[in-house]
Amino acid sequence: MTVLKGNCLVAQSGGPTSVINASVVGVVQEAFRSGEIDRVYGALNGVAGILNENLICFNDEPAEEIELMRVTPAAALGSCRFKLKGIEENESEFKRILEGPEGFLWAHWCGLAECEAKIKEETKATIRAIPFQEGEGGKCIRCGEASVQRVVFAKAY
Ligand SMILES: [Zn+2]
Repeated sequence: MTVLKGNCLVAQSGGPTSVINASVVGVVQEAFRSGEIDRVYGALNGVAGILNENLICFNDEPAEEIELMRVTPAAALGSCRFKLKGIEENESEFKRILEGPEGFLWAHWCGLAECEAKIKEETKATIRAIPFQEGEGGKCIRCGEASVQRVVFAKAY
């Protein structure tokens, strides 16, 4: 398995559940433990925080404060239900996100190599990670066809 190096960004989405903060704590602590992640950012209010670059950096937070999030009710980073438009309608926004400190997108892809190639051509981003388990369905950011899950796009350097 290829080890991803760089920064990490975590965001919360949808309705807060009793485990939503524990999930963030798990992501942050494992990112620090990996030794491969330089900075761990949290997006405030989900994807809206990513779009507006409204981020906090967990590197600046004391470990005890991060651990306290595990038992804190509600969504510590805040949530939203904003849906990003497809890449066709929103190419400049996708490029801006990929250029930002987060440098990656968690987006739907239909599975076709042709779509991945077009996305690479337009944004220089390639697919870096495909989850083992299928997530919630959606529409491919390139062609709008059905997608069974989101994948991680990041720019190649
Ligand atoms: Zn597609």
